[in-house]
Amino acid sequence: MKITDVKAVYPKYSHVQPSWRTHFWQIVVRVESDTGIVGYGYGGGGVASVEVVNRHMGELLVGRRLDSVADITAAWDALYAASIPYGRRGIGVMALSGIDLALWDLLGKAEGVAVHELIGQRTKGAVPAYATGADAEWYAEMGFTAHKFPHRFDGDEAGYETAVDRASKARDIFGPDARIMIDAYMSWNTEVTLEMAERLAEFSIYWFEDVLTPDDLEGQGALQSRVKPVLIAGGEHEFTQYGFREVALTGALDLWQPDITWCGGITAGLRILDIARGVGAPVAPHRGGEVWGLHLIVASDCMDLAEVLPGSRGAPKDELWRGEPRAEDGHIEPTDGPGFGVTLNDAMV
Ligand SMILES: [Mg+2]
Repeated sequence: MKITDVKAVYPKYSHVQPSWRTHFWQIVVRVESDTGIVGYGYGGGGVASVEVVNRHMGELLVGRRLDSVADITAAWDALYAASIPYGRRGIGVMALSGIDLALWDLLGKAEGVAVHELIGQRTKGAVPAYATGADAEWYAEMGFTAHKFPHRFDGDEAGYETAVDRASKARDIFGPDARIMIDAYMSWNTEVTLEMAERLAEFSIYWFEDVLTPDDLEGQGALQSRVKPVLIAGGEHEFTQYGFREVALTGALDLWQPDITWCGGITAGLRILDIARGVGAPVAPHRGGEVWGLHLIVASDCMDLAEVLPGSRGAPKDELWRGEPRAEDGHIEPTDGPGFGVTLNDAMV
């Protein structure tokens, strides 16, 4: 088939966190073909990324043939090369991610198969899911058996105390064998991380995530042996196989967390997995419980672990995609519907 139109939109979110994300949250990319079949993808980078798709990458795609996974890979390489002067990392690749995922969805629909079948042999059934957020009791009630809580260090003793309180509470709620993780969102530093490792030792935390910024690969690498057995995890702010090649070369992270809607889509995800395999790094995609990561998880050697963000009990959520799989008994799996198996809620675009 031939690609006939490419368009990105920024959805009408009502419940996006009131922060930078208000205008820079996820975008929707729609790719039309001469068969009448339409593919949908989900990218990052907000309103700026919409412009990258609509005013540059889209026009490079129109007229290209799309009949195989090799055609998607070739399109990825062409768009990446064309965006090198402003892209490589950040918004350029977040836009490319949305396009890449729309192409996988389009090809899956054209062939009548799920994206995980296009990727390869299914290696997993329902994937154990962990709930990220601040409402541990509710997550346990819903059947989750693993949990990650956010922690922003505010620079004094109280910062340590809140971490200990939350870890203690999570351990009580989920029991002695559950995986409990902490996401520092770049608010810790080396000294704080070492102190946390000591104070939290009794709670057997599985990983500390994003303790430093993604630019400090050396600093994260140096922490690994000093906080064991806790793993140093990260990667949601890393991009493409080129970024993760640096992670591999520096040995900076014990566990890699590419975001499939930001790092370059499934095409980049597969290349990142190749690099991870070479150095023995486990890969657990950021937001892997959403279909974009989940199809990759079940058809690859990603870890058998998917991140789900249920929010808080009673809090309103935007339903942008219909037909998204939900975690049941702490597990989640994609459907076998064509493409990613979800449809867009038109009222939001
Ligand atoms: Mg995170």
